[in-house]
Amino acid sequence: MSESATYQASCLCSAVKVTVAQINPNFSVCHCQGCRTWGGGPFFAVQCGTDVTFENAENIISYPSSDWAERGFCKQCGTHLFYRLKKTGAYNMPLGLFPALENLKMDIQYFSDKKPSYYCLANDTKEMTEAQIMAYFADQV
Ligand SMILES: [Zn+2]
Ligand SMILES: [Zn+2]
Repeated sequence: MSESATYQASCLCSAVKVTVAQINPNFSVCHCQGCRTWGGGPFFAVQCGTDVTFENAENIISYPSSDWAERGFCKQCGTHLFYRLKKTGAYNMPLGLFPALENLKMDIQYFSDKKPSYYCLANDTKEMTEAQIMAYFADQV
């Protein structure tokens, strides 16, 4: 984890502003159908923990996308803001919200067996299949 710096981001229309205390530069990529339906491609996300504050949070809509998580977005411009785990309250946020991050490393690919064949990422990463993820989240609801 990077220490003590504070990171700020905003959605495209600036209605929502976000302040995050910590961001893990080892980011994840999710190939599941839900993420690809949501964003049109794989979801690149950084772990931001629970120390996340929103300005103008009335502009955020969140959607319960599974038993264990919700997805949040700006209701004015649609910018994706977070994937939040219900059990821990931890936020995974789109990597692209934070243009100035350093030392980023693609660490793990989720739903690696669900990746369609029309793209591939050359990065050498850890991977988790759907079966491995379901076994993990069976514990998290
Ligand atoms: Zn917005
Ligand atoms: Zn996903």
